[in-house]
Amino acid sequence: MSMPTTDFKCDACNFQSSSTVIWGSSHYLDESNAEVNLEKILGWCCECQSIAPIECFDDELLIITKIIEHSQHLQPSFAHIIKWVFSGEYRNHLGSINRLNKRLSIIKLRKGKECCLNCGSQNVDTIFQGNKQASSINSSETLHPGCKSHGKLNAQPGLNINMSLSPRFYDLNGEEIDH
Ligand SMILES: [Zn+2]
Ligand SMILES: [Zn+2]
Repeated sequence: MSMPTTDFKCDACNFQSSSTVIWGSSHYLDESNAEVNLEKILGWCCECQSIAPIECFDDELLIITKIIEHSQHLQPSFAHIIKWVFSGEYRNHLGSINRLNKRLSIIKLRKGKECCLNCGSQNVDTIFQGNKQASSINSSETLHPGCKSHGKLNAQPGLNINMSLSPRFYDLNGEEIDH
């Protein structure tokens, strides 16, 4: 299935990039190699000197809400507790809480220290004002960071592309690991 892309071009120099840099699935792996949800956003990496996928830590409240929801399923009546404790549903809720807690601790430890998911640098900038969708980026206000000609980045619909990418994995510090 082909997907729409957004092309970025500087109006003053020959820099260009595409929203496809954020494509593909990315996950953290914890100490026991369990996957933890990773959120990313298009941003600017000063090390890569390019538009890059940057970690996103803005879902703390959403995660807390989800943990509370799952916790409400973990209060069975005493009569059913043994049967229930061994049920798949119980384990599913516990597993979900565990994964959400892992993500929550990543956010608490590292909010403000977001990494570029291509090179691991923390020298990054969320130039697109928190827009997760490349298509909703209003480029008129977006300066091309570090541009010698002080250009602005224009965002335009690109081709529809079909690309299959292998998932990428990161440790809890945002360092890419071979899996
Ligand atoms: Zn430029
Ligand atoms: Zn980078």
